[in-house]
Amino acid sequence: MSGAAPPPHRRISGRLVIATHNPGKLREMRELLAPYGIEAVSAGELGLGEPEETGVSFAENARIKAVAATQATGLPAFADDSGLCVEALDGAPGIHSARWAGPSKDFPAAMARIDELLRSKGAASPPQRRAHFVSALCIAWPDGHTEDFEARVDGSLVWPPRGSRGFGFDPMFQPDGLSETFGELSSDDKHGLPPRGRGLSHRARAFLKLAAACLRPAD
Ligand code: IMP
Repeated sequence: MSGAAPPPHRRISGRLVIATHNPGKLREMRELLAPYGIEAVSAGELGLGEPEETGVSFAENARIKAVAATQATGLPAFADDSGLCVEALDGAPGIHSARWAGPSKDFPAAMARIDELLRSKGAASPPQRRAHFVSALCIAWPDGHTEDFEARVDGSLVWPPRGSRGFGFDPMFQPDGLSETFGELSSDDKHGLPPRGRGLSHRARAFLKLAAACLRPAD
């Protein structure tokens, strides 16, 4: 006996709020949406506040941000919750990745802290410095409907950091199979979208799932 068919995904059309105040994420989310003809305004441009991220998972925090933005604006809202999980540090900083940079968003200091913690554990070789980025994406509509997608990219952490592109922890993350860090890659290479690849970054991989379910390329 076959079970009930899963409910259909909801298509995104028209205006969308990008529920982030992080300029690096905003740029990437706009780049990912660009081919779909969606008019995207940011939470910052609309003067929205930032909700408290009280969830215990990336997916819960993405949903908190998307739901807060759709309720405040009456528009569908798109949020990303993401972070870096270091295996030798039991997954830290994980959902607390932004907080490790402190109120001044000092990512060089946050990267140095991770490197010091790894050194204190004797983690010097790439296999001892395994890490992955996770991106959870949520789109929320004013009537309470949500769509959720999640993906990760695996790699290892280098020291010293390399490259001044990207944002956050990009300069210390070298994805598997490449000799550059995310900080050395162009945005197009970090996304690695078709036809050049099948999605490289955590955000691009999660976005490809979202696009397949909820977006149609612009005519
Ligand atoms: P939040 O999702 O706003 O709580 O913050 C996630 C944090 O994780 C960001 O502030 C970055 O520090 C880090 N992060 C997430 N995605 C990336 C990425 O693609 N590159 C570098 N750092 C990232």
